[in-house]
Amino acid sequence: MKRTPITFVCLSVLAAALAFSQGGSAAKKDYPIRPVDFTKVQITDAFWAPKMKTNRIVTIPFAMKKNEETGRVDNFRKAAGLMKGVYLGKRYNDTDVYKVIEGASYSLLLHPDPALKKELDDLIKLIGAAQEPDGYLYTARTVNPKNPAPGAGPERWYFLRGSHELYNSGHMFEAAVAHYLATGEKSFLDIAVKNADMLVRTFGPDKRRDVPGHQEVEIGLAKLYRVTGNAKYLELAKFFLDQRGLPHEGHLYPGDSPFALYNQKEYMQDHKPVLEQDEAVGHAVRAMYMYAGMADVAALGGYPEYVKAIDRLWENVVGNKMYLTGGVGSRGIVEGFGENYELPNSAYAETCAAIGNVLWNQRLFLLHGDAKYIDVLERVMYNGLISGLSLDGMLFFYQNPLESVGGYLRSPWFEVACCPPNVTRFLPSVPGYVYAVTEDTLYVNLFASSTAKIGVGGKKDVEVIQETRYPWDGLVKIGINPVRIAAFTLAVRIPGWARNEPVPGGLYRFADKNDQAVVIRLNNKLVTPPIEKGYALIKRTWRTGDIVSLSIPMPIRRVVADERVKDDAGMAALERGPIVFCAEGVDNGGDVLDIVLPDDAKLQPFFRPDLVGGVEIIRGQAAAVVKSRDGKSELRKRAFYAVPYFAWANRGDGEMTVWFPRTEAAVRPREGRGKVDPVL
Ligand SMILES: [Zn+2]
Repeated sequence: MKRTPITFVCLSVLAAALAFSQGGSAAKKDYPIRPVDFTKVQITDAFWAPKMKTNRIVTIPFAMKKNEETGRVDNFRKAAGLMKGVYLGKRYNDTDVYKVIEGASYSLLLHPDPALKKELDDLIKLIGAAQEPDGYLYTARTVNPKNPAPGAGPERWYFLRGSHELYNSGHMFEAAVAHYLATGEKSFLDIAVKNADMLVRTFGPDKRRDVPGHQEVEIGLAKLYRVTGNAKYLELAKFFLDQRGLPHEGHLYPGDSPFALYNQKEYMQDHKPVLEQDEAVGHAVRAMYMYAGMADVAALGGYPEYVKAIDRLWENVVGNKMYLTGGVGSRGIVEGFGENYELPNSAYAETCAAIGNVLWNQRLFLLHGDAKYIDVLERVMYNGLISGLSLDGMLFFYQNPLESVGGYLRSPWFEVACCPPNVTRFLPSVPGYVYAVTEDTLYVNLFASSTAKIGVGGKKDVEVIQETRYPWDGLVKIGINPVRIAAFTLAVRIPGWARNEPVPGGLYRFADKNDQAVVIRLNNKLVTPPIEKGYALIKRTWRTGDIVSLSIPMPIRRVVADERVKDDAGMAALERGPIVFCAEGVDNGGDVLDIVLPDDAKLQPFFRPDLVGGVEIIRGQAAAVVKSRDGKSELRKRAFYAVPYFAWANRGDGEMTVWFPRTEAAVRPREGRGKVDPVL
């Protein structure tokens, strides 16, 4: 294929940026394990590749159009003085424009598209024109400083804990870095640097001391530090983290807001210094972004005390506060965490929180090299994250409940539209979660048909080819083709679910037994490599043509929750491989909330190429409680049909449930069930 100039520029710039991030300048601290960049891995499978293609062809243009239609882009025109009118929408609407630019830039890296690049160039010009001379960039104020948007505060930084001024900056930094890596051009990066330099001048130990109410700027500053090498940005990220839990001047939300119902400081993780936090509380997206930012500051700045804190928080989230789908956040009213084991299936579980959970777990893996973080990441990606997007790429969930009485469908957009553009920027990055490397180890974390060119130890070029039908089949062939023979360890993740541990920590466990072992072959010979931290370690001198094959049994498994999760008491859920299943009304004669799934109900997997893009389904015989003529209730057999949870609500409205009573005694009254907790 003929290489276009765009590709040429972007790859060389990317290589320079990667050399920097991979220790090109020796003194720089970084994660001990480096992800293999998404540009190095071409996924060709039948699961992610079509979703990524839909994102590129449908969702990104759709989100750009929505940003125009809803006045989000006009806000920049108004701030730049190119258009008259008042600021429209929420005070954080600029971020939806930034996030789509980030996703579109990632997409450009993989698929050069001059028309899309021109669109981005025009948007970036507009963003630059909306920036104030000293670098401040927040159209919610600039459009009319005398009468800024509601919640923006009467002057800069006044409502920092509610204004999202720094949240906006964080997403702008991420988008600018993505655009720079994609094009090699500094047009957006210069805008970001001008804004970041203003933040550095404004905030600090001997300047303004305050905390952003919605974390995100920390991740953005860390990324900006990576591409510019300016350590002040990393120091500022650390400063914002360290300010949390300290007394501040400044103003909390007005008392009449919904946050009066909740401890405002807990809501924004400002109740304790971050190093002392040991329970996940408050708004879930804020928490996930903060924990990911703490990991970045720990790794890039060399602060092990942050690692201790996020390790504790992870134990709490994964052991007490995570849904089976990997979703987090159980209270819709505050979009946040509840108490330990408070996991109602009306789940709030915002799509953005799922994305944040992936970002955080990836960073924890890069710090610790333990597969348990990828177990969580995989659970989130295949279930509670991708459920946020419809098959056609144009409808979105904000909340991802595990039960519905019907009347809950994806929407084309939201007034608070953080989730759709977050999905658009996440999908192109999926190949970046497949592999990771150190000096002498190549980690295989996710399984998907793909080809990759990987430098192990920064010097050995290794072609890695995966062939698999994952997640529908557990047979994975990994071809290793080094340019020259090369000695290194191939660390192949053995998923927790294949080791009888659906999640680390025991919040969920399998109710049934599976004695089928994972079988590993090297060049067709059975091998039994040591398993450490969830990885099969195959150490050898690799030659072109070597093939490792992995056969992971994928029986249908019944999962039960810790008995302290009251909402799942007496219930079981179904999993097969990494996929969580649900029953939908459309397949089950309308009602699914009355289904009883006895432990001995016979179930069979079955591949349906015609259904929602081609999915494995589960069918068999369950039971339902019915009233007999004499008024007594009894269990009567009925057909049962379950589909992957992520695919639900693609075939019209109806009931849905992930959890099924195992006995008649566990059946609950329908009243009050399955209503999605409203978000204020
Ligand atoms: Zn969101």
